[in-house]
Formats: sequence, C-alpha cells, structure tokens
Amino acid sequence: MLLLMGTRFELVAVSEDEQLADKAIEAGILEIQRIEALISEWQPTSQTSAINRSAGGMPVSVDEELYELIRRSLRISELTGGAFDISWAAADKVWKFDGSMKTMPDSQAVANSIRHIGYQKIQLIPETHSVYLQEQGMKIGFGAIGKGYAANKARDVMRNMGIKSGVVNAAGDLITWGKQADGQPWYIGIADPAEKDKVFSWLTADHTAIVTSGSYEKFAEIDGKRYAHIIDPRTGYPVTGLKSVTIICPDAELADALATATMVLGREEGLYLINQLKGVECLMITDQDEMVTSDNLHLHYYKNKPQPAKAAIPAKTSKM
Ligand code: ADP
Ligand code: MG
Repeated sequence: MLLLMGTRFELVAVSEDEQLADKAIEAGILEIQRIEALISEWQPTSQTSAINRSAGGMPVSVDEELYELIRRSLRISELTGGAFDISWAAADKVWKFDGSMKTMPDSQAVANSIRHIGYQKIQLIPETHSVYLQEQGMKIGFGAIGKGYAANKARDVMRNMGIKSGVVNAAGDLITWGKQADGQPWYIGIADPAEKDKVFSWLTADHTAIVTSGSYEKFAEIDGKRYAHIIDPRTGYPVTGLKSVTIICPDAELADALATATMVLGREEGLYLINQLKGVECLMITDQDEMVTSDNLHLHYYKNKPQPAKAAIPAKTSKM
C-alpha cells in the first residue's frame, strides 16, 4: 500500500513465484509514478504543466502517450456532451472541497470561471504531437481519468511480466484480471447506502474495472447542501443529486471518466447514456440513498448466497 497521485494504491499479484510477484508489484508502482510525473497538473515539471503554461501562446509538443490520453479524453467529452471535460480545471480557483468553504462563491465569479472551459478549444496537431490550448486562462487536468489510466497501465506491466491474475486498487477504484489463487473469481463488495460499513451485495469480476465517483470524500457543505468535487462544465457549479456513481466495464480509464461524467449528467441522462453503451454498467446512489442500476447489472445479494462474503474486496461505495 502506498500513496501515489494523492491516493492509496494497493497492488495484488497472484503467482506461485513469490519473487516474480514482488518484482511485478514493484514494476507496477514504478509505472504509476512514471505516469504521475508525465500527466500531473500539479508538478511543474510535467508535460501537462507545460501545456497549461503555454495556453493562448503556442502549441507544446508532448509524448505520444500524453497526446493519446488527451485525444481519448476529447472523445469522451464528445460522447458525454461535454459533461466530462479535462479543461474543467480553469474553474478550479473558485471552489474548495477541503471543508473550508462555508458560503457560496459570487455568481459572477462562477460565470467567469467557465469562460475558459471548453474541450473544443483544445487543439491537437498530429504532425508534431502538439497540444494547444487556444485561450489564455485555459487549463487541463486529469483528476477524473488519470487514476483509471494508471490502473490500466500498471495492470498491463504486471501482466506482461507473467502475472496471470491480480488487482490494482486505487482506494476502491480497481481493476482485476484472472482469478484468485484458489480459482475463485474476484468478488467486489458493494456497500449498503444506508449502512455505510455493511457490504450487502457483490459482483464477480473477471477482467473488470469498478470505479466510483462521488461526493462522499471530497465535498463542500454549504447551507446543509452537499456539493461534490465535480464541476458541471456547462454551469461552473459543482454537481448535486447523486451521492455516487459506480461504473463497471473492462477498461479502468473509461470507467473513471464515465463515473465522473455520469455524476454530472445526473440520474436520468446518466442512466440513458450508460444503458446505450455495450459492456458498460452502472450503479448510482442518489442523495436520498436510493439505489439505481443500469439494465444489465446483476448484483448478488448476501441474503441469497452468503459464502463469498469473506473474499470480497470493498468497492469505494463502502466509504459513503
Ligand atoms: P475521484 O477523484 O474521487 O475518484 P473523479 O474520478 O470523479 O473522482 O474525479 C474528480 C476530479 O476530476 C476532480 O477532483 C477534478 O480534479 C476533476 N473534475 C472535476 N469536474 C470535472 C469534469 N466535469 N470533467 C473532468 N474532470 C473533472
Ligand atoms: Mg472519474
């Protein structure tokens, strides 16, 4: 267990060769650190920071890896009608989600903060692998997709070293592959929204990512209303209505981005989107603790079949 990208990452490698398992976990950790150094908008030496510094000035040539991450991010913006937008970061000065914010910000300041948001203004230049933010004041950040990307890549590194099954778990956002050492599938526990510490259902997960976004960890509470640390790029205001969205699909990066986007889209629009995507399922918890699932999500309930309870890895919803 260690702190990477501001998150507790836990890597599990199943192998009869203990040395190989240790080496693979070490390599997985190095991979996550490498990605953080490349994409972090906080580290001044990252390529992302270079792009942000040159906003409104000139295009910045970046590694193919970052270029492709941005290209995929833009595709998800299109898919979600702009609910997911890495250029949300231009608004990050208005809101604080560390508990210190007690009053609503000035509505003019909020309106101003979205002037420089807009994925359409992120220009990609394939010939030179360059990225150009067309306006001064624009800023990109990968808070809603980077952990999922890192989880995918850490899994790839471990799998390429011969690890046939394992888990990369970023504080409850996780990806699994293969089966447990005893041949059983990985079981992922889902918490009871009303009783936070009680896992009441589970999913079996082969080659699946399970990622949750929500307002249970980072939020602002103003006049008794809870605001999630996810901004609706169309209004500049943090999203309300859903406590959490859990996305289940084979790709941790896509799951991460869609979890954030579904929080923004809300119950109806979000469910509509997820039900249209093949191989993607979701579970939402509303502010009223109601549980809503997509059409093809099949949860197992403990009351029907209690055995696998012990093996379940709790998904992030357990921390609501
Ligand atoms: P978590 O970090 O709790 O797993 P998310 O994956 O939903 O949650 O990421 C939330 C983070 O994404 C925010 O802290 C912020 O950095 C960034 N963000 C906020 N709003 C948006 C948005 N509309 N689109 C893309 N990124 C966003
Ligand atoms: Mg996300």
